[in-house]
Amino acid sequence: MTRRDFLKRAGATAVAIAGAHNACAETSHRYIDVHTHITQTFGVKPKLSAADLVRWMDSAEIGKAFVLPLVNPESWDHLISVEYVLRETEQFRDRLIPSCCIDPRMNYLNSVEAKVKHLQRYIDAGVKGYGEHKCGVNIDDPRNIEVFAAAAELKLPILFHLDNDRNMDKPGLPGLAKVLEAVPNGIFIGHANGWWASISGDATQEDFGAYPNRKTTPGGAIDALMDRFPNIYGDLSAGSGSNAILRDVEFGKEFLVRRADRLLFGTDYLMPGQQVPQLSMYKEIELPEDVRTKIFHGNAEQVFGISLKNWPRKNT
Ligand SMILES: [Zn+2]
Repeated sequence: MTRRDFLKRAGATAVAIAGAHNACAETSHRYIDVHTHITQTFGVKPKLSAADLVRWMDSAEIGKAFVLPLVNPESWDHLISVEYVLRETEQFRDRLIPSCCIDPRMNYLNSVEAKVKHLQRYIDAGVKGYGEHKCGVNIDDPRNIEVFAAAAELKLPILFHLDNDRNMDKPGLPGLAKVLEAVPNGIFIGHANGWWASISGDATQEDFGAYPNRKTTPGGAIDALMDRFPNIYGDLSAGSGSNAILRDVEFGKEFLVRRADRLLFGTDYLMPGQQVPQLSMYKEIELPEDVRTKIFHGNAEQVFGISLKNWPRKNT
């Protein structure tokens, strides 16, 4: 091959790749994922880079994803700082939306004012949400409530993990009700086993750390809280989110339709090769088009003030 032929062929390949990427980005993305992570090399589990995450998103029809830091010592096998998330996602900012969080036990941020000031700096750097709040205190710990009040003041939606070790609560979620009363201007997004066990009226403390597989009974705390408070949403990510729907498909489908205004698509993808039950779940459960639109991206667009289709930067 002559040098000229080589250059011509290389150029044609580059154009084809860019074209394919553009077509993919513009047409086949139907989800906003409110819950993903990137990780570093220091953990036992394999690293997931921002580039790995974007590649996987393309294969999963996910247009944009929130990347959540993990700064609480109970949250992962190593800490993922806000600074790391901001830096690593920067070159993919049209696809990856950074979130922020703080540990409520930090001595240096011991008032709502101090927390507001700190979170404001993250907003100035580009974050659009607060989470994943995954802290080893009770959900209604006064320090938690200060963090939530600060995030609410800055209009950052708050994504929290609730189980028997992080943001603990009791069946019926009385602690969470206290939080929602104390911070009426906040937008809260519930996640994890304790939250999703509460889809069922018979949820036990043991269920808060498990994946219950018996039939769902009506009268769950999630429904009660959603009836009582307009500002509580559910993040359908992770095994806990898919299990809440799939443990009793009939109830699950009815719940997705009935609560379509309060539910957000998410995966909790954080490891290369991770199985994501959500992707097949939404293909198997038939839902009305307006319900799919709301859950897949419409609610996230409204809650976070972003758009699935808005691409600030062209892929070239
Ligand atoms: Zn997570």
